[in-house]
Amino acid sequence: MKQAMERDVTKRQWYYRGSLKSCNYSCSYCPFAKRTCSRRSIQADREAFFRFTGRMLQQQKGGAVQIVPYGEALIHPYYWEGLAALSRSPVIDAVGAQSNFSFPTEEMLSVYREHGGELKKLRLWGTFHPEMISAEQFARHCRFLTEQKISYCVGAVGVPEYLEQIRMLRKALPDSVYLWINKMDGLGRRYTEAELEAFAEIDGYFRQELKHYRAELTACADSRFVEADGMMRRCNISRENIGNFYGDSVESKKEELSGCKRKTCSCYLAYCNRRDAVAPFFRPYPAFRIPVYPKAVFFDIDGTLVPEGLRRIPEHTARGLLRLSVRCEIYLATSLPLEAAKRKLSSVWHVFRGGVFANGARWQTQSQEKGSLDVILPMEAGWLTGIKEKQKAYGFKVHVYRKKADIYKVTLSFHRVRRGIQMPEQKQKELADALKIPDSCRILWEGNCMQITKQGTGKLAGILEICRAMGYQREDVTAVGDSLNDREMVEYFS
Ligand code: SF4
Ligand code: SF4
Repeated sequence: MKQAMERDVTKRQWYYRGSLKSCNYSCSYCPFAKRTCSRRSIQADREAFFRFTGRMLQQQKGGAVQIVPYGEALIHPYYWEGLAALSRSPVIDAVGAQSNFSFPTEEMLSVYREHGGELKKLRLWGTFHPEMISAEQFARHCRFLTEQKISYCVGAVGVPEYLEQIRMLRKALPDSVYLWINKMDGLGRRYTEAELEAFAEIDGYFRQELKHYRAELTACADSRFVEADGMMRRCNISRENIGNFYGDSVESKKEELSGCKRKTCSCYLAYCNRRDAVAPFFRPYPAFRIPVYPKAVFFDIDGTLVPEGLRRIPEHTARGLLRLSVRCEIYLATSLPLEAAKRKLSSVWHVFRGGVFANGARWQTQSQEKGSLDVILPMEAGWLTGIKEKQKAYGFKVHVYRKKADIYKVTLSFHRVRRGIQMPEQKQKELADALKIPDSCRILWEGNCMQITKQGTGKLAGILEICRAMGYQREDVTAVGDSLNDREMVEYFS
């Protein structure tokens, strides 16, 4: 099953930033505001861009290219010409640029078309600047793009003073268009709960934008950020130079994973690249910020849907799940047994189509078309005889989960082990031996709990069973989770 679901993982998200540092707008906080550039510097930017596109077109390893300029690039026809050339490449799936959406749309789209640009590969990112344009004017521009069947997202910085204009924009946009909100860096205080709610109402992913993602290179190794002179980094904020795009063959170059010298992936263009499901609904090329919903999404519960220390799903997460359930089928992938999962998620239980419970020892599907399934994988349980007598000596409580006579999960919770402290591996092994847990059982330690199921069970294995039952392909599925136990499923579907 796993093999049958393999997919191409060689493609990459590319970013390009040229030498351009000018803009036709004059936003009060921006260093590029109304800065004009000499003809010479525009010519230099043009040459650098065509050098980049020329080299990109020689790449075997394609992917997608997002232009992230300092200033406004799309008012210059050469950017459209270069994007068109890239879009013609069979190994490049998508091309796009960040913009303030002030470019003359028809004129620039003609340039793109004249150079053979494929409209279906074009992805635009439009930032709304309420200081410079009204919500209605901006939305008019967006509606035209929608009529042209161009994919795009729009968004704004979450400045509390502009909340009303941003709301107006949301109302004026087609429902299908995603409007993101970026956190305001210079706010100098936390958002109030009311502001937070208001922005989260507009952008369902706004709370994600406020989280801190500890920088971790193993999570972001596939993206490449290229500057005009060819200097490459992994993302726009990394300070680590990983070689020159115009040096030896980029594909043969051994790029060192030494560090990015950042503490956190502190903006969308950085954290969206992470493979640990930080932006699961924007794949395969999250830099365009255009949601792409999978057919099915599997959520871990503890730490993902229900934060540590809470007994129930928070209301805002429940609302998000309700919204999501309109777009795709939602499942669970949890180490909790079914009953405990149901208690934690009671307010939204009806939105789930089933899930993987007890670390894969039980899985369920509910489908009108394909019928309902409730499968358990019973474990060998002879070793449980006399377990109650051992509770006191070893300091644990035993919880047995069964369906009729079949036991599919046993949890031993050790009350002498402090929460958050992992028991040393040697001690774990000694305990398993002392309790005579056979090799046919799988042991997974979660905090102070020893979770025991049948050997071969696991969240990913359970999801693959559901995929088989429901007819999902690998690319139809996304998995979201936050712990080590989730890594296998998250990476498999990322
Ligand atoms: S549109 Fe962007 S680049 Fe131009 S002035 Fe405003 S913030 Fe700066
Ligand atoms: S800051 Fe950038 S390079 Fe560093 S870990 Fe985050 S995404 Fe990767």
